[in-house]
Amino acid sequence: MTDILDFNLNELKERFKEDGIKPFRAQQVFSWLKNGVFWFSDMKNLGSETQDILNEKYVVGVPGTVQLLQSKDGTKKALLELQDGNIIEAVLMKYEHGYSVCISTQVGCSMGCSFCASTREGLIRNLTPGEMLGEVLAMGKIAGERISNVVLMGAGEPLDNFDNVSKFLSLINSDEILGIGQRHITLSTCGLADRIRDFADLDTQVTLAVSLHETTDEKRKKLMPVAWKYSLKELFSSLEYYQEKTGRRITFEYALVKGINDTREDAVRLKNLLNGIKSHVNLIPVNDTGNVLITRPDPKSVESFREFLSSMGLEVTVRREMGSDISAACGQLKRSYISENAEVPHGGKDQ
Ligand code: SAH
Repeated sequence: MTDILDFNLNELKERFKEDGIKPFRAQQVFSWLKNGVFWFSDMKNLGSETQDILNEKYVVGVPGTVQLLQSKDGTKKALLELQDGNIIEAVLMKYEHGYSVCISTQVGCSMGCSFCASTREGLIRNLTPGEMLGEVLAMGKIAGERISNVVLMGAGEPLDNFDNVSKFLSLINSDEILGIGQRHITLSTCGLADRIRDFADLDTQVTLAVSLHETTDEKRKKLMPVAWKYSLKELFSSLEYYQEKTGRRITFEYALVKGINDTREDAVRLKNLLNGIKSHVNLIPVNDTGNVLITRPDPKSVESFREFLSSMGLEVTVRREMGSDISAACGQLKRSYISENAEVPHGGKDQ
């Protein structure tokens, strides 16, 4: 069955014409979706004839919520089930300026970062544009309010699913459904330099976040296999290209790992690496995912690392920890759910 969320308004109008449905119905369907109504039979103004055709030909690919956890700080984490039974995670965070949703872009991930729980079983499959939009709609319904920000920082490498992610970005940006401004969207990548150039060529105002985590190729290769493919030189040349094209500041994520990348020398190298780049550094005290070699520095060391970077003139913050009491970090919840529910279907491996 075809997921109606995969189409923009014009595409849906064209399809409706072929289906014998009046094109203006597409706008009506979108209005319902925008308001959290996901069943054609509940879309009252469509008429039963249209509803029947839609029920026969389409699904609304909003994933079902199989588990919802709420943290003391208000963060909510959902395990969502896709049409084929695969499970993904999405997180809803409430900030002063509104709700932000962190979505997954793939089922699993092939990047293999040593500290990340989402990549342990490798890549299962890419998410479609409609499935990513479905995550935002599902979380919007849980929030009961408009979503104002979307971050592509859940499981998966967004630039490894380039075409679907680009289409998704245009879908959530369009006013007919969510109208989320590009500047309210952040895409996080582990640093696929070639794809960063392609992303720059899309000429969007979407914020780019780069998972840097290390400051020499040798050290980075130990944490992130992607460093074998793209050197820091190649990565930074693609980032310069991105900045020339878009003029936008780049966020650098730096997961602080005790004894690995948290020394003064690391900080100085980081400062030198970012020279000449409009940047913001986001320090993330690493979350424990069961790898004994990966532990987080104590809060005092984190603060002194931050202060030192700041004294050298970098703009730097420590990521506010949200939802740590509900395994909100990086693939942890899904892993515990899957191991407790071994019969959960895990199809689509061959797609
Ligand atoms: N693949 C993309 C987006 C998903 S990961 C990327 O690599 O950027 C989102 C962020 O969480 C990345 O910065 C990633 O490196 C970080 N991350 C993953 N596991 C983590 C952990 N255990 N502790 C802290 N940060 C982690």
